[in-house]
Amino acid sequence: MNTRHFIFTAAERLKGRKTLLCLREMLKHDSYKREELENYRNEKLKDLLEDSVQNVPFYSQFGKLPIPKYPDEVLDVIKKWPIIRRQHFQENAKLFISRKVKKSSVYKARTGGSTGEPVYTYKHPHLDEMGRASKIRARKWYGVSNVPRIFMIWGSSGSFDSTFKGKIQTLAREVRYSLNGIKRVSAYGLDGRNIKRCVEELKQFQPELIYSYTTPIYLVAAYLVENDTKLLNPNLKLVNTTAEPLHEFQRKTIEKAFGVPVQNGYGAAEVTNIAFSCPSGGMHVVEDNVFVELLNDNNERDVFGRVLVTALHSIGAPIIRYEIGDIAAWRNGYCSCSLPYKMLEKIEGRVHDLIKLGSGKIIHGELFTHAFEHINGLRKFQVIQRDKNKFDIIFQTVDGTHIEYNRQINKLQKEIGEPVELNVQFVDHIETDPSAKFRWVRSDVNSCLG
Ligand SMILES: [Zn+2]
Repeated sequence: MNTRHFIFTAAERLKGRKTLLCLREMLKHDSYKREELENYRNEKLKDLLEDSVQNVPFYSQFGKLPIPKYPDEVLDVIKKWPIIRRQHFQENAKLFISRKVKKSSVYKARTGGSTGEPVYTYKHPHLDEMGRASKIRARKWYGVSNVPRIFMIWGSSGSFDSTFKGKIQTLAREVRYSLNGIKRVSAYGLDGRNIKRCVEELKQFQPELIYSYTTPIYLVAAYLVENDTKLLNPNLKLVNTTAEPLHEFQRKTIEKAFGVPVQNGYGAAEVTNIAFSCPSGGMHVVEDNVFVELLNDNNERDVFGRVLVTALHSIGAPIIRYEIGDIAAWRNGYCSCSLPYKMLEKIEGRVHDLIKLGSGKIIHGELFTHAFEHINGLRKFQVIQRDKNKFDIIFQTVDGTHIEYNRQINKLQKEIGEPVELNVQFVDHIETDPSAKFRWVRSDVNSCLG
């Protein structure tokens, strides 16, 4: 057992978490036959629906929601359950806490989502354990160890959270990262100088895994390829991208630059991990972690449609038929990797335009999510780049003081690091064109991916 593994295990014990036990359970499912996997999923779904009807105020209020007598009826029964959207959590997330669990055993989790609609949900730690285990397992498909040395190119909302608790949490995370062999560099403000520094740090750190939003690691890879720079890193096994779609040209460039495969992950903070790509190229839904339905406007299932996710391990604070705001289609057939999990073909939704300032500096869209997700009463926002250094920031809000907004705008200005004009508007409603994806960060000026 190496030091990282030892520290990881000790921290898990201290927190009463059982991620590695969950991993052991989940690893078995990789070799399940399809029928065994469906039985497992149906049992979990049945338990979740039963518990929710009996113990969760949000579901009790409907009077008589159907529950299946037998596990194999569950897919028909769940169709009759209400679809949950962000607004349900925004209105009263506490209604989703089971009467059976101690209030102290669930925690409030904040997510900006890649949607421009910040939301709080309550989570039971088991949901996170299984989510984390599903991620470790998916990396093992590429030979990555359970507790790898990770180079993360990431954003963090910590720098925008000015509460005492927020600052302590940020500090604690940094200490935990360094003990666990995780090096984090900021995904924000990608300009030539930062990319060069990132390359130097990568050379020194020698990670087993690079974990990044798609665009930043693509920009680093493109720099390496353009400058014909080789990164000698015999330990590196995988580049793991997330939070954005991975386009084929990006995959090719990243693979060329680093000489290892790229795995794309798809998830949402509210439900943890939904799908991961495998070495044969299939985007497999982790069906022992989530149940995914795709519905069109006529509520027909299994078509190119809206993604509804039920978190199988969310007993205690259930998330059932949650519409996460993306649209997707199934990919038919089986993958040559022989994993039993179904595959998604297309996922659309997690998109925002990339912002390039007059100076050439590139701003990642997640910067805005992190700047605004702490504001109480914020329902939705949109950032529109009107000119190179000129932005409209539109807030749809139910309450919250303008002082709070101004404070976050000032911090955002500081984080951007060069003079930009930010015009703030408050509106009652931000229009969403139902036929198009809502671009919560939109550039009317340029796209550096074009
Ligand atoms: Zn596969």
